[in-house]
Amino acid sequence: MKKGKVFLVGAGPGDIGLITVRGLEAIKLAEVILYDRLANPKLLEFAPLDCELIYCGKLPHCHALRQDKINDLLVEKALEGKIVVRLKGGDPSVFGRVGEEAAALAEHDISFEIVPGITSGIAAPLYAGIPVTHREYGGSFAIVTAHDKSKEGKPSIDWEGLVNGIDTISFYMGVANLPFICESLIKHGKPSSTPVILVQWGTFGRQKILEGTLETIVQKAQFEKFENPAITLIGDIVSIRGKLNWFEKKPLFGRQILLARTGTEISEIAKELTEQGADVIEFPKWKKVSAPVDMTVMRNIHMYEKILFTSPESVTDFFTTLAEQEIDIRNVKAKLFGGSTKSTRELKKRGFVVDVADKMTDCKKLLIVGDDQLQKHNTEYTAQYGVHDLFITSFKQIDEQFIPILQRMLDEAALDTVVFPSSAAVQAFVEQAPVYGITAERMLRNLKIVCMGKKTWAAAETFGLNPDDMPENPTRQALIECLQKTFISTRL
Ligand code: SAH
Repeated sequence: MKKGKVFLVGAGPGDIGLITVRGLEAIKLAEVILYDRLANPKLLEFAPLDCELIYCGKLPHCHALRQDKINDLLVEKALEGKIVVRLKGGDPSVFGRVGEEAAALAEHDISFEIVPGITSGIAAPLYAGIPVTHREYGGSFAIVTAHDKSKEGKPSIDWEGLVNGIDTISFYMGVANLPFICESLIKHGKPSSTPVILVQWGTFGRQKILEGTLETIVQKAQFEKFENPAITLIGDIVSIRGKLNWFEKKPLFGRQILLARTGTEISEIAKELTEQGADVIEFPKWKKVSAPVDMTVMRNIHMYEKILFTSPESVTDFFTTLAEQEIDIRNVKAKLFGGSTKSTRELKKRGFVVDVADKMTDCKKLLIVGDDQLQKHNTEYTAQYGVHDLFITSFKQIDEQFIPILQRMLDEAALDTVVFPSSAAVQAFVEQAPVYGITAERMLRNLKIVCMGKKTWAAAETFGLNPDDMPENPTRQALIECLQKTFISTRL
């Protein structure tokens, strides 16, 4: 039997770009992933489609999976011969119980690897513009828990040692015990004017900070109802934040955007909006299942005069199928067309310089390539192009495993905008929202609705939605400018 293996992986603090190359490799190999609440769930999109995803965090109205149960599950899955990833927020060894998990695996002689991660106590301050050491402000840095197993949850710390020996301190799990921390530090000699910063959801687009001093921060945090997950950073270094604050200056920082999607991969728009500082939730989550190959079409591929590719994925799928069936590409005699500029771009990558479908004239033998949505539009194709054959490369289905994941992401977010990139995305959004236990109308309440173009705007209206804005032209740059503008107007 195949021997199982466990990777204990640090997911990094939030920004998915902060996972290590090794960590991402492990996710891509995984057959089972046990993940925590603080590991960004977007990383799970990199897992293989059939990977089992097990949530180990807290659920509403019930407790989190207990640690001994998690250890048992890791052992059980590995003994079944599976590749298991235990995905934890930040670094697995920083208040991550990796020691206990690794010990359980070692006890059962299960092979494991530990993949370090970037810890939030360093990354969250950096994304707030604060390095934890600096030649002029601090040569020592400590990671300290602000919570422990004692009765009242108050950590027993050598306060005197901390005050006298350490310049900068990062407290984890600290919000509830903030009064105790500040009081203890002052009592043991730390000046009450020492700067303090709280960084909540560090490295996410929704990162929030609160600045004060040991004397003022408690009241401020109570006033703002500041909550976990947050890092409490204490030390003179906090005062340089103004100069180095790079992340919060991104154009879309603070925006929480719902992006309606029709594709199965992370979209280019999502990547760009994230790059510009926004938190983006792509909704809904689809998965692609290969369709059985239509051998009649494949055998007769040389007979088609024209082939229309309805999406970039259809291009990839078509040429992959040809290769898998060992059909030489030179059997394709047809003139190729893309259904949109995105599809023509995909064809160009493969060396075909082609026109978009608008330029297509009638022909006898036309083949239309795409996913199972083609069947829905077949009468439109007949009206437009006359006789044709369909070549369906894949079926698109809602990814059931992601229903609870997306529900949790939506619960946790405070969305401000929805972006509809296409009319198909409007339709998909409205149709699929109920699968997630919520109507489209409810999900869109209080959100600004941005449509990528006139056709999309019209589609939104057909579904009874009232769009608010549209970029000047359908480019990503114009979309970013439009989103910046809508945010300013929302805030006024
Ligand atoms: N292993 C994790 C820490 C787990 S303990 C790491 O290395 O980061 C959980 C605590 O980590 C939270 O209570 C909070 O204090 C901190 N934390 C985790 N992710 C965070 C984030 N994105 N922003 C701020 N604090 C975070």
